[in-house]
Amino acid sequence: MTTKATIRAMKLEMNASSNPFIVNPTVIWDDQHAILIDTGIPGQLELIQEQLELHYFPFHRLSHIMITHQDRDHLGSLPELAAVSEGVVEVLAHELSVPYIQGEVPLLKSGNTVPFTQVDQSLKDGDIIPLCGGIRVIATPGHTPDHISLYHIPSKTLISGDAMIANEGQLLPPAEQHTADMGAALASVGKLVDYEIESVICYHGGICTGNIRERLIEISAGSQL
Ligand SMILES: [Zn+2]
Repeated sequence: MTTKATIRAMKLEMNASSNPFIVNPTVIWDDQHAILIDTGIPGQLELIQEQLELHYFPFHRLSHIMITHQDRDHLGSLPELAAVSEGVVEVLAHELSVPYIQGEVPLLKSGNTVPFTQVDQSLKDGDIIPLCGGIRVIATPGHTPDHISLYHIPSKTLISGDAMIANEGQLLPPAEQHTADMGAALASVGKLVDYEIESVICYHGGICTGNIRERLIEISAGSQL
């Protein structure tokens, strides 16, 4: 029998030009599989390996990497991770993210093209990935057109990616200066109201719990607080 999956928010820190930069990839694992969701900025391979080993699971157990969207701080270390775990780790991403991750077209925000990484499985809205008890793919376009959030069914945890951010435990709308289509982004938050969510892991800001549904309704209605 498969054990119950564990889900945690990682904390990846990097001092880039004296600005501390902290992001929160998610890890989910059980005795069968070990998943990393989003991969920091380029050059964080060793830090990710070290953090996984120290707090979560041995790096060699990593079986899947999921990417929420094409932004550089989410797929940054993916090429390095894929290279060191070639043939072992499967990469999953939304179908609209695939050409960006595979380096076929330049990223929308930076205009740069990333090194090729093979996407092994392309995802669609509504897909249920049969790993770690089930993870539902929810298309949440707006921040970028290819953006997805992931809902870990057994733990009732939403991995928001950048569909929302958090500050000191408070859920907030996505950062306006980094969001391509704010109207679409808020409509995407409205879609999340349908799910029974106990906690949200925001890539920027970490974990939020309590009154999630109420807060999703406020955010989708355009209210900041
Ligand atoms: Zn982003």
